[in-house]
Amino acid sequence: ALGANRSCIRELFEYGRQRAAVVGAENVFDYSLGNPSIPSPPEVNETIRQILEDTDSLTLHGYTTAVGDLATRKAIADDLNARYGTDILPGELFIGCGAAPELCAVLKAVTTPGSKVLALAPYFPEYKPFAESAGAVFEVVPPDVPSFQIPFDALETLLTKDVNAIIVNSPNNPAGTVYTVDTLKKLSALLTEKSAEFGHPIYIIADEPYRELCYDGITAPFIPTIYQNTVVCYSYSKSLSLPGERIGYIYVPRQAENGEDLYLAVAGAARAAGHVCAPSLWQKVIARCTHLRPDLCAYDKNRRALYDGLVAAGYEVAKPDGAFYLFVKAPGGDANAFSEFAKTKDVLLVPGDGFGCPGWFRLCYCVSYDQIIRSLPVFAQMIQEYK
Ligand code: PLP
Repeated sequence: ALGANRSCIRELFEYGRQRAAVVGAENVFDYSLGNPSIPSPPEVNETIRQILEDTDSLTLHGYTTAVGDLATRKAIADDLNARYGTDILPGELFIGCGAAPELCAVLKAVTTPGSKVLALAPYFPEYKPFAESAGAVFEVVPPDVPSFQIPFDALETLLTKDVNAIIVNSPNNPAGTVYTVDTLKKLSALLTEKSAEFGHPIYIIADEPYRELCYDGITAPFIPTIYQNTVVCYSYSKSLSLPGERIGYIYVPRQAENGEDLYLAVAGAARAAGHVCAPSLWQKVIARCTHLRPDLCAYDKNRRALYDGLVAAGYEVAKPDGAFYLFVKAPGGDANAFSEFAKTKDVLLVPGDGFGCPGWFRLCYCVSYDQIIRSLPVFAQMIQEYK
């Protein structure tokens, strides 16, 4: 059963590799996978070199504390405190192997078998298997099309007594939405009211791999400063372009309800899944690199070129404030059919059905600018032919 449901994104990506072997990589317009296309800041590799020189091999490659090196947790806490005016302690941080296993641990910690986890559509498709493997029931709040903001009426209807958590992903994959402080305050007020009514906390699980990827001067609010029952799952996969290295952290505020027990539960859930002691070298790199931020110029240039080009060709596109995805309304209304049609032109786009938003498709613009420019005439031709 576990093998039966394959990731549609991964399948498209594999298909693209096969096509590239046949027609040449430059002739496949692959917009399937969110693999960063800007290099890590040069300080990252420079730090690795320094660490290799100044750290003895046993320390470098040995196990760290299960929850992560104290020096790493302290560096992260200091950075967050300087940025957000918080007073986070190293003991509230757990160093994880990226947002995916962090989400699994947190979902396990905040739910009991059969309790519910909500996600706001469009949502990252892996949430469903993550929540279900924790034994929870996964429910989706339908999308507010085309704003992709939070549909509060629909959310309120789904907020029943058995809901333990809601996953909030801002900046959002796939729509690029960044929730404003006002929106998050409204969410906080609703969750506070419902938690009081039900007699138990409803946690926000803030899934934040894209926190640093915002454009046009926008910044993503740090949700724990707005709603105290927030657990953050952060990842350096996108912010420092390190998706293959598997490094990030979980922040469990001590001020959250049952905060200290919750931290222990998160660590215990990670342990039960065999997920302790994130890669030692990468913990040491992060300890020295928490101040680094991505240079977003290339993504921003891609975002503008693709958005403007698609709108000019007649597509309806959600204007993204963050992340590196564009969410586009499928001509004809059936995103699966349009994706299949696009494959015949060697254009790979991901139907929105898996994100809980049929009728739309996702493009990852973390690709070369050249790919975007060369694909625009193909997109223009596709919408004309499809009519
Ligand atoms: N959450 C979202 C919204 C994502 O888009 C991704 C990866 O693309 C993840 C979590 C998993 O990220 P990581 O590489 O940190 O496991």
